[in-house]
Amino acid sequence: MTVINKMIHQLTVPTPYAVGDVHTYLLKGETLSLVDAGVNTEEAWIALVAQLKDIGYEPNDIEQIILTHHHPDHTGLIERFSQVERIIGHRNITPWIMRDEAYFKHFEDFYYHYFTLSGVPKEFQVFIERLRVPLKFSGKGELTDVIDEGDRLPGHSEFRVIETKGHAQSHLSFLNMVDGTFIGGDHLLQHISPNPIMEPPLIGETERPKPLLQYRKNITKCLDLGIRVILPGHGKIFSNLEEVVARQRAKQESRATKVLSLLRNYSHTPFQLCEQIFPRQYQLQLDLTMSETIGQLDYLEDKGLVTKTIEDGVFVYHAI
Ligand SMILES: [Zn+2]
Repeated sequence: MTVINKMIHQLTVPTPYAVGDVHTYLLKGETLSLVDAGVNTEEAWIALVAQLKDIGYEPNDIEQIILTHHHPDHTGLIERFSQVERIIGHRNITPWIMRDEAYFKHFEDFYYHYFTLSGVPKEFQVFIERLRVPLKFSGKGELTDVIDEGDRLPGHSEFRVIETKGHAQSHLSFLNMVDGTFIGGDHLLQHISPNPIMEPPLIGETERPKPLLQYRKNITKCLDLGIRVILPGHGKIFSNLEEVVARQRAKQESRATKVLSLLRNYSHTPFQLCEQIFPRQYQLQLDLTMSETIGQLDYLEDKGLVTKTIEDGVFVYHAI
């Protein structure tokens, strides 16, 4: 537990993921809020309760939960706080925490369809059966309040909501307009670059979001918001925003350059690129490594450096 100031405490719980611990933030104001709710494991719950107790609170004292995005390590413990009056977040969190079967089917169909188009061989498509495994660590519940860009946080009117899609299509961050404190979820992390994870078009839309382009736009947007300190979902609290954003951009651009140089040798399908860029990881983490590869292709296409054709029902990318 770390005291940020008299209004905010950082509480840290373990996760079963490679990323390690995840932070939640206790926010005092007109109401007592928890920003994010850890991961749904007994270890995380015990750690969270112990840290609340250290600062004189019990789980029952929490009046509302505010979510930065829908990933399991941020929503996990919501149903343990059964007394909360409000659960607040972006509308795109809803299908995940409500276990919307129709949405999950839409999600899986999209992955199957898009991976086929990207040249993923049939035998690798079994990974789709694993997409639901992380749900066991995810919270169940229902949003009472939908918020978006420009709104003020209920009960904490000094915090403005900043839309920060990219890592997730439900991602929001919260900026204290008085002192520049920024609760950034997984949008801005000092030590790792967040994965821009591919998600299907929203129901009723036909275009898939381009998460890497959104991510670049939204980290750049953060440079002009008067942010002074970043309270992240993982890793250290930091203030050197310009340096971190420059580093993230440079790292991404160097990955794109690698993709471009492969395409200059000869044209590739997204899957062929993925195998070459992530030779050790692609079989185990096909969704993440393909998301990253497709993200770089979206970026290069947006810059006018590559073009794609469809050959035998599969995308082939060419350097221009
Ligand atoms: Zn996340």
